[in-house]
Amino acid sequence: MVLSVMAASSVTSSALRQNRNAVRRQQASRFAELMGAVVPANRFWAEKWQAVGSELAHDKFRIPDDLAKFPLTTKQELVADHAAHPPYGSNLTFDVGAYSRFCQTSGTTGQPLRWLDTPESWQWMLGCWEQIFELAGVRPDDRLCFPFSFGPFLGFWAAFDGAARLGRLCLPGGGMSSESRLKLIEENHATVVCCTPTYALRLAEVAADLGMDLRSGSVRLLIVAGEPGGSVTSIRARIEEAWGARVIDHWGMTEVGPLAAECVENPGGLHVLETECLAEIIDPASGQPFDLDAAIIAGPQAAATPIRGELVITNFGRVGSPVIRYRTGDLVELDPVSCPCGRSLLRLKCGILSRMDDMLTIRGNNVFPTAIEAILREFSEIIEYRLNVAARGAMQELKIEVETTIGVPDPANEFDRVRELLDRIEVTIHNRLHFRPEVIAVEPGSLPRHELKGRRIHRVP
Ligand SMILES: [Zn+2]
Repeated sequence: MVLSVMAASSVTSSALRQNRNAVRRQQASRFAELMGAVVPANRFWAEKWQAVGSELAHDKFRIPDDLAKFPLTTKQELVADHAAHPPYGSNLTFDVGAYSRFCQTSGTTGQPLRWLDTPESWQWMLGCWEQIFELAGVRPDDRLCFPFSFGPFLGFWAAFDGAARLGRLCLPGGGMSSESRLKLIEENHATVVCCTPTYALRLAEVAADLGMDLRSGSVRLLIVAGEPGGSVTSIRARIEEAWGARVIDHWGMTEVGPLAAECVENPGGLHVLETECLAEIIDPASGQPFDLDAAIIAGPQAAATPIRGELVITNFGRVGSPVIRYRTGDLVELDPVSCPCGRSLLRLKCGILSRMDDMLTIRGNNVFPTAIEAILREFSEIIEYRLNVAARGAMQELKIEVETTIGVPDPANEFDRVRELLDRIEVTIHNRLHFRPEVIAVEPGSLPRHELKGRRIHRVP
């Protein structure tokens, strides 16, 4: 279900207030329903609920004010809980026998988290995907290809099931090479591809090597997720140019489910599915939430500084293993402008700006790797790159390796094109991000390629 529709030009502050109040009333009711199921049965949340105190009767909750009294939850808490209560932790509302789906995180930042879903929770996630497909403009005649490993990561499992539940033709691409996946797309006339931004570019690279012209192919839409790049203009442009297709950004996490997507009418941002979750933006240092409703009602003219911080999620429908005020570790910014699509759902400007723990400090500047990638993708000669970060005491130093379409510098040539390209990259980064990194060209094909999330930050001890 999509919340009330209203032409952007006619949105007044009183209409915005009414819209936000309607969203909050619906959220309060969904939250009370969730807590009614969770508090008596789920050890993890019951203990956190007790810590808030008995004065907060959950059936009289006011959203968002009372929710802010509830403690935030971190991934570290979930990891510690899993270690204390192996193998699935204590965030289980039912006996393990009631659960039918298993997934786990990749464990790139520590121990993998295992997550279980009941059939009802899984159906809720498929409903979220139905909303995402509606936002993305997926049509009844679309054929969706999922070039995804279908391993233990949540990834696009729910997207596949959600599209199948809608009656769309779904093509699974697990256990296949990139070449076989491209043939799967071509021979079955797939119109929609769901993958990470990194893999969309990798498939385009393989297609070019094979002499396949994706631009004249059947794909009209790529739904990308798993990395911040899907809402970054230059990254989107590279993917759209290579495929001759539109990119739609999407956001979800193993712990929270699929909960945001770009609308087809307005590129470069994510609508949060506020019928299914409550999203807060907090100051990462103090943990205090910003007043999003006041900012939306006041409009962009009133905002002295952008509301930017960490995204915190409470999901309503994953009753078997919910999260309540979960710190996602993703940096986002509120878009206070009414979206031209007319939806009153919260919008995150430029999508996910960065993972908070990816932030680098280079010569006193806080630098997000996404900002560096946004610049690198403006250079059509760059095929792949890697950021090498070395710690020098409290400082970090950055060396960027790039693979280019024109090879590596020729030291014998004073007017070498590759050297000139590397200089231009260094100057552009210096002008925009206020530090000049060392950029070197490496042999084509020498950097790692990725089929899921790109791992392009190499931390040198
Ligand atoms: Zn929109």
